[in-house]
Amino acid sequence: IPADGKLLSCTGLSCDESMLTGESAAVQKQIHDEVSMGCTVKSGHGIFQVEQTGMHTRMGQIAGMLTEIEEEPTPLQKHLGQLSKYIAAGCLLICAVVSITGVLRGEALFDMLITGVSLAVAAVPEGLCAVVTISLALAVSRMVKKNALVRRLHAVETLGCATVICSDKTGTLTENRMTVQEIATPKYHLYLEVSKGKEIGFFSENGENAADLDDIRQLTEIAVLCNNTQLPQEREEKGLFRTSKVEAVQGDPTESALFVMAESAHFSTVKIMREFSRTFEIPFDSQRKRMSVIVRNRQGDRWIFSKGAPDYMLELCSYYLENGQVKLLTPSIRKKIQSQNEEMARKALRVLGFAYQSEPEESERAESDLIFVGLAGMIDPPRQEAYQAVQTCKKAGIQTVMITGDHVSTASAIARDLKILDTNGRVLTGKELDQMTDVQLDRELDQVRVFARVAPAHKLRIVKAFKKKGRVVAMTGDGVNDAPAIKEADIGVAMGNGTDVTKEAASVVLLDSSFATLVSAIEEGRVIYKNIRKFIRYLLSCNIGEIVTMFLGMLMGMPVVLLPIQILIVNLVTDGLPAIALGLEPAEKDIMQKPPRKKQEGIFSDGLLSTIVFRGILIGLTTLAVFTSFYHSSQNLLVARTGALATLVITQLIHVFECKREEVGIFKINLLDNWKLVAAVAFSTLILALSIHLPICNLLFQTAPLTWRQMGEIALYCAAVPILSSIAISFKHKKRKDRKQEEISFQLPVQGEN
Ligand code: ATP
Repeated sequence: IPADGKLLSCTGLSCDESMLTGESAAVQKQIHDEVSMGCTVKSGHGIFQVEQTGMHTRMGQIAGMLTEIEEEPTPLQKHLGQLSKYIAAGCLLICAVVSITGVLRGEALFDMLITGVSLAVAAVPEGLCAVVTISLALAVSRMVKKNALVRRLHAVETLGCATVICSDKTGTLTENRMTVQEIATPKYHLYLEVSKGKEIGFFSENGENAADLDDIRQLTEIAVLCNNTQLPQEREEKGLFRTSKVEAVQGDPTESALFVMAESAHFSTVKIMREFSRTFEIPFDSQRKRMSVIVRNRQGDRWIFSKGAPDYMLELCSYYLENGQVKLLTPSIRKKIQSQNEEMARKALRVLGFAYQSEPEESERAESDLIFVGLAGMIDPPRQEAYQAVQTCKKAGIQTVMITGDHVSTASAIARDLKILDTNGRVLTGKELDQMTDVQLDRELDQVRVFARVAPAHKLRIVKAFKKKGRVVAMTGDGVNDAPAIKEADIGVAMGNGTDVTKEAASVVLLDSSFATLVSAIEEGRVIYKNIRKFIRYLLSCNIGEIVTMFLGMLMGMPVVLLPIQILIVNLVTDGLPAIALGLEPAEKDIMQKPPRKKQEGIFSDGLLSTIVFRGILIGLTTLAVFTSFYHSSQNLLVARTGALATLVITQLIHVFECKREEVGIFKINLLDNWKLVAAVAFSTLILALSIHLPICNLLFQTAPLTWRQMGEIALYCAAVPILSSIAISFKHKKRKDRKQEEISFQLPVQGEN
């Protein structure tokens, strides 16, 4: 509903006002009742007079209040915020200890204060939280370019942990481009014939033409009238509608396909629509899986026309139509219709059944003792990109589960086609699900690949069951009824063409409704987490390097190695651009060939902390070595500090390249595949060169120009660090590989016993 206003007329109108009132039950509306912007119509239709728009509506007032609420930090940001606090507290402690012991040892108070401040500046990773936020924000903008709109920032982190994707079928795994291929009545079975890309009609194997059959005429009338598709107005006015293009009509693809079917079978939809007027509607609902309308013809005769899932429709029918005659629906005819339905569904067709009755009462009770007319089976091809995406999920250790309201055979055929369902996979129907206890469901869940003929309420149970097993679930949905399941899921995913309520509940919106987009968002989630680990490794080891330099220098009784301003320069050139560029690293080739990360896994898992500490100590020792060497050789504190400054910056800039990969040393890494990182490092090197060689900078930063010989010496020291750390990394990973191998060979006999 696009504005606030008062109803002038309405038929069976009910609105979901949960967004305003929190009340989940739909509110029945009468003439003169208020309707509110942002709410959704659950059933019926009506006309209202607009009274308020934009910020003056009830929704607008709430929106106004919402703008005052600040966005919560993500779990990762909180985690890092906490880490920063620990670091700050630790560094204050070190500063205090250093300053106090220094003063007690007889050092000048001022010198000790300077040392303390320098240490504090060295220890705090000032850029960390800013870099995390910038990287997450950039990831969100990259995702939007791929059609995945992230509504909640924390979803970016959770996406990378997804272990199960529960996906809708229609429109997500399939194209939602329906074309009726077959029409069947208990007597006839007709197939769409196409010549030179144009539909020429529906014909049976014996050559009967749909256009000549009374039963098909009846079926077509139901299909066109029990339908909310709208014809483009000018075509309707001129009675010109004759097209085979679904795009030419506006509405639900299933219903649009029925319009096209009528035209392809050579019945005029415009004529049918002029013949009848609608007086009542019981709208389609994925719980009831059917829709009915009550119509009146020009002579004043009234009819109920119904269409819906054949198994549901048959339960309402007591008669059937054959060559224009109404006959009793015997068990054998019922069986025949069921097997016609089954046969079409096995061919992956989405099947609808059609029925009618005369002189109905205007209520849901009219949907009984109906006369069954026939079936229409429509094809909805799987999305091309979904094949690849399902394979990617398999390799990435993510279970794909199809959840659909469609028939079990249709769903299975498409799931088999997309390789979601294999010989070991199970298919469960909504009815079977209802009969299962939670314990039984828990036991079956790992094998289930398809849930068919489910209602939206089942989705919530499925999500809860997966979550109970410790899985991280991404659940897609489009209808209002899907909102609770979407909200419950770890990653709620709404479709771009879904209702506002669903989008409101979701953390990600797929603008193109495609499964492949969701998979690429998951990949992006993995990439960003990996990148965050990369720059945390980088920033923290650099900080540890600075602390080691300052602290050890002090312990060894040396003058203050670097002044606070010099440490600020180091942080400025190393913590800013290079760290952000590291956050923009492209995806590692095998990122979707590894199992998902565990949600509770800490940021320092897999021995990252020891790597950081080891590398930090190496940076510190190298800097100290240069400082000592320069101090002894030149007896000039300015030169020694400049040497230490240059070494600290260069070792850190080399380290930024090492952080591109965790498992291999710098010599096995492609250093040039992220041009932003190369540019950031080049820029930082330029600033370093200027701060050493520009006289004004010498004055400001208390540095001195270095000779070629000194620079060569620094280069030698700096080159030694990555060599040492490469040896350490390969040693560490060899040990880890051996340990994994041992674990596997330890587990093998157990598997054999099973
Ligand atoms: P998914 O959940 O994957 O999108 P779906 O679109 O098939 O699956 P529903 O929309 O709940 O799920 O449809 C369930 C069944 O209801 C369909 O198999 C079809 O037989 C019937 N159906 C679908 N759309 C309509 C409609 N507009 N009118 C009447 N019956 C319909």
